[in-house]
Amino acid sequence: MSAKIIDGKAVSAEVRERVAAEVSEFIEGGGHQPVLATVLVGDDPASHVYVANKHKACEAAGIGSVHHELPAETSQADLVTLVEALGDDDAIDGILVQLPPPEHIDPDAVIAAINPAKDVDGLTATNAGLLAGGRPGLVPCTPAGVIELLDHAGTELEGAEAVIVGRSNLVGRPLISLLLGRNATVTAAHSRTRDLAAVCSRADVLVAAVGVPELLGADHVKPGATVIDVGINRTDDGLKGDVDFEAAVEVAGAITPVPGGVGPMTIAMLMANTLAAARARAI
Ligand code: NAD
Repeated sequence: MSAKIIDGKAVSAEVRERVAAEVSEFIEGGGHQPVLATVLVGDDPASHVYVANKHKACEAAGIGSVHHELPAETSQADLVTLVEALGDDDAIDGILVQLPPPEHIDPDAVIAAINPAKDVDGLTATNAGLLAGGRPGLVPCTPAGVIELLDHAGTELEGAEAVIVGRSNLVGRPLISLLLGRNATVTAAHSRTRDLAAVCSRADVLVAAVGVPELLGADHVKPGATVIDVGINRTDDGLKGDVDFEAAVEVAGAITPVPGGVGPMTIAMLMANTLAAARARAI
């Protein structure tokens, strides 16, 4: 039996259309046009592509955007000053600093400078704390996209055994809180987990956010489980997820491909967060 493929491109397009319609409604109802500010330090080609895609998505959603590009040798102090100024700027609703910054800059210091009301990546201690406490705030885009995909796939979360492999601040940890908030029974597995296959194969919902190509295979998947693969790994054989897709697809009930699964969701949720930040600031 082959699993149902969860089409992240299609779900992302739906979310982006929904956000575009809500942006129009917000403006027609007397609201201002939401504006996202992006900040990019240095000349990493992949980061340039990511930022350009974010601006294109803004345009399509009717969201305004401004971009600040700083040379690689920019000091941490200068970057923090810019991020703080954007936080005070009434014309800006969302701030996105493209990570990682060059090595001489501490990403935590930059994140700490983001006004939490404009933290559309959901990375500040304020938003992480709100999420951990089960209170409303801005939620990191990739984990929010994972929940959107699970809902789209019709996966029952209430009471389900959910196993997340990976505990990063960007993906794994926020997912623990999001899935707990949906009344799943959540296990966080990581690099020190003793018997990863035994833990994973209990899961009705298995989320891989590791960064190791094809770490999880058929032995890790419970028959009929929903498998969400967050991993994006560049290998000599092309882009691979953290799940061995060919093996897992034969066991799972539903599964995301790589590419075309979680990847397209991140940008859609960024649009949703920018609108949410604009609405909250307008109250
Ligand atoms: P990270 O390196 O910050 O965290 C990886 C986690 O995996 C750690 O918690 C570690 O304990 C765990 N881990 C490492 N090796 C392990 C092993 N052998 N067994 C079990 N657990 C292990 O990574 P991240 O930022 O969370 O990213 C994870 C993956 O998701 C990467 O491939 C990244 O490219 C991808 N990613 C994709 C998107 C997207 O938009 N789709 C967004 C963010 C990250």
